[in-house]
Amino acid sequence: MDAKRRRFEGGSLFADGQRIAAIGRDIPYETADTVIDAAGKIVYPGLINTHHHLFQTLTRNIPLAQDCELFDWLGVLYGIWRHLQPEDVYHGAMVGLGELLKSGCTTAADHFYCFPNGVSGELIDEEIRAAKELGIRFYPTRGSMNMGKSSGGLPPDEVCQSSEAILSDTRRVIERYHSADPFAMVRIGVAPCSPFNVTGDLLRESAELARSYNVRLHTHLAETMDEERYCLERFGMRPFDYMAEHGWVGDDVWYAHGIHFNDEEIRRMGVHRCGVAHCATSNMKLSSGVFPVMKMLQAGVRVGLGVDGSASNDGSDLLAEARIAYLLHKLAHGSNSLTAEDCLHLATRGSASVLGWDDAIGSLEVGKAADLFMIDTRRLGFAGALYDDAALPIATGMPQPVDMTIVGGKVVVKEGRLTAVEEEAVAERARAASLRLVNEASLRTKIDYRALRRA
Ligand SMILES: [Zn+2]
Repeated sequence: MDAKRRRFEGGSLFADGQRIAAIGRDIPYETADTVIDAAGKIVYPGLINTHHHLFQTLTRNIPLAQDCELFDWLGVLYGIWRHLQPEDVYHGAMVGLGELLKSGCTTAADHFYCFPNGVSGELIDEEIRAAKELGIRFYPTRGSMNMGKSSGGLPPDEVCQSSEAILSDTRRVIERYHSADPFAMVRIGVAPCSPFNVTGDLLRESAELARSYNVRLHTHLAETMDEERYCLERFGMRPFDYMAEHGWVGDDVWYAHGIHFNDEEIRRMGVHRCGVAHCATSNMKLSSGVFPVMKMLQAGVRVGLGVDGSASNDGSDLLAEARIAYLLHKLAHGSNSLTAEDCLHLATRGSASVLGWDDAIGSLEVGKAADLFMIDTRRLGFAGALYDDAALPIATGMPQPVDMTIVGGKVVVKEGRLTAVEEEAVAERARAASLRLVNEASLRTKIDYRALRRA
């Protein structure tokens, strides 16, 4: 995935610490401390996820929320998320990040915006703790909601915070965790949730705060027609104009979704080099619409992929996401739309560009991070399909986890299993946390979230 999309047949890769020191043939790998024999395997640049809500991993496949569009879906789930505890954030992140690593993802962004009243603790810290434990490169963004129902927003007031609390915790998180080092394991972004749950003042103040620290900005935008109608009715302008008015256009901004922009808005996004996290599965599940990927790319907008929160996916498989994007755009835009290799490009180099991190991740090149994954071509599922290595896992689909994932030169997935943790124990603790959360919500609201389907 270098600028020429070169492929090396029978080559080797030499990593010195986090950094790739050499790639190609005739590499003196005998001198290495560790030699990994990749015979029969294909090595790919690690995938990069640009949008997620890891806490939602504990509220997947909830019957009542399964067949809704965004606003109704949120209405159901806010009722559960208001009971979120710090340990839920940790367990949700362990599962979501573990799934991502097993699908070849080596860097993950997250958007954490749900801070229920009365829950003490530093919630975003819990997911950073999980990422460190698993060894994934992590880009959490400090989300926020300060406009609840009582002030015309969508969420219940109980999951909103004051602007003062939001801005001071955002400062704390940046100062404590953010690193601009090319090989940073944690970077922080600033991410008010969306135009329908954050005030205009907080949008402006968040942008100013982010720029004063030279960190990036992230939010949801142009996801649904409901959002567009909301902005037109409440602010008298379209979502993009509203964001532009509050300082939310620039090459340090990336939006999640970006489906309902008009041609002029796409042109302006390209001029300003905005980024978009394209989340095909979530957009399909919530019937939000089809992301105009070809227009975006032609306009020069930076496009990456994201699995989105696990309540609208309901999984964290980034390789599957690339395949779904590939198939969706073939259906929507015809046979001249993205190739499978283009989708691998979006999930690697495209995503790195969206995160402003293309100096160190997104491709396997000397000087960049040794972030990669491998698949074994001798699997049954690949027999008869070995004619295009770059397209292989996307065109065929991956019925199983990747064989190996390496982040910063460290093996974090081996033979399809996480190396740092006992997966069954992680799953059991997350199951228990999920049950407690959903049962608590059912008790408090007298709605059986586990059983009821939408009427
Ligand atoms: Zn989202």
